[in-house]
Amino acid sequence: MLIDSHCHLDRLNLDPYKGNLDDAVQAAHDRGIQQMLCISVTLENNPQVISIAQRYPGVVASVGIHPCDVKEATATKEQLLYWADQEKVVAIGETGLDYHYETESKDLQTESFILHLQVAKEKKLPVVVHTREAKEDTLAILKEHACREYAGVLHCFTEDWPMAKAALELNYYISISGIVTFKNAEQIREVVRNMPLDKLLVETDSPYLAPAPYRGKSNEPKYVREVAQYIADLRGLSLEKFGEITTENFYRLFGRARQYLPE
Ligand SMILES: [Zn+2]
Ligand SMILES: [Zn+2]
Repeated sequence: MLIDSHCHLDRLNLDPYKGNLDDAVQAAHDRGIQQMLCISVTLENNPQVISIAQRYPGVVASVGIHPCDVKEATATKEQLLYWADQEKVVAIGETGLDYHYETESKDLQTESFILHLQVAKEKKLPVVVHTREAKEDTLAILKEHACREYAGVLHCFTEDWPMAKAALELNYYISISGIVTFKNAEQIREVVRNMPLDKLLVETDSPYLAPAPYRGKSNEPKYVREVAQYIADLRGLSLEKFGEITTENFYRLFGRARQYLPE
């Protein structure tokens, strides 16, 4: 049993499925992935992501505006609150800071990140945080505005162990993507070796970042199995045991998702 804790189902390359998302979702279920958390990133795609989640029993949704998209259009507090109340929504995000791709919108990103954290606190929902080359600022904002009780996750983690440790101190989880399988990802492997198992999640971030041996190809939720197998091997666990642990972690963090478990 596995869960893909971060994917963008509205952006998948559906060519192998003749354009049919049903078959991509089914392909994931066929490989033991019971639930997928589909993540919103732009103002326009939030309603789309919510409707995808409502269409599939095995899909839940997160609502928010990605830091790389805030300069196009940010969400108001009312919008975020409205989306957060929709059926199948279990988290806020992705939000956060990205100084790798976006440096000019730093102020907007900061403002938006803080707003997302406030809404999450109000709605008692966990937050899906994207952070890239913005270690200090991300931690400073989380320290000031994050909610310990409902917490959140640093997704697609690519930073070092001290940053992971600082996030753990805030009661945050760390989610590992297929990047961990890349040759140059020693820093992430070190994080994985050091991590307490009860704070680890796995994700594909599909359609991006397909794990080895599919690197460079279009990614999809069914490949979370490859990511999980790789980490299980690193930690000397069976895939089954590792799946059990990360599934438990997922439901502990995304408490609302449990009620939407497919029969
Ligand atoms: Zn991200
Ligand atoms: Zn994402």
